[in-house]
Amino acid sequence: MKIVVATGNEHKKIEIADILGLERFDFATMKEEGILIDIVEDGGTFEENALIKAREVRKHTIHAVLADDSGLEVDALDGAPGIYSARFAGENASDEENNQKLLELMKDVPSDKRSGRFVCVIAFIDEGGREYVFRGECPGKILESQRGEGGFGYDPLFYVESKGKTFAQLDGGEKNSISHRAVALKDAKEIIVKISEEEKR
Ligand code: IMP
Repeated sequence: MKIVVATGNEHKKIEIADILGLERFDFATMKEEGILIDIVEDGGTFEENALIKAREVRKHTIHAVLADDSGLEVDALDGAPGIYSARFAGENASDEENNQKLLELMKDVPSDKRSGRFVCVIAFIDEGGREYVFRGECPGKILESQRGEGGFGYDPLFYVESKGKTFAQLDGGEKNSISHRAVALKDAKEIIVKISEEEKR
């Protein structure tokens, strides 16, 4: 089964294929499939945005499609930045700008009120057009300053109690074993394997 990952980002495709560990599937990015479209993510939830992406790509392929939408929810900010995580500090904001904005908004929030979570929603459309949605979450705490060099996005501010480290201090394998994306993909994998076995029959 070929799975078109609704991203132009080769890195994301590899990360998803790595976590799924599905050597028997053939993963492709939109670009590799010649799907050169701009998708307007104007949903109000991670679920809506993941489905918007998956459905749009599905219009251009007969293959199965997998899309994800993810972000950081901070309790003290009523769930912000949420679906606006990538553009929290503005349309083309850098990771650094987003992190600075988060720190600024959180500057008076005491340590015991700095809880939050990374959320990842995966939408999968199989070859027959059936839709599936999976949600993964990883709880943590927003630090008062950045720690660690790895990862991307809000990783240096996101502290995971059980590891005693930020996401930016974990190596790729460690992050991929506990991340919001890993949790959602683990559930997705169960279903995708089942579907592919049904198709073989
Ligand atoms: P996307 O929808 O997966 O492209 O992610 C949206 C935004 O959420 C990213 O630009 C990051 O700011 C943030 N984000 C999502 N996942 C992570 C993560 O694992 N670490 C750090 N930031 C993340």
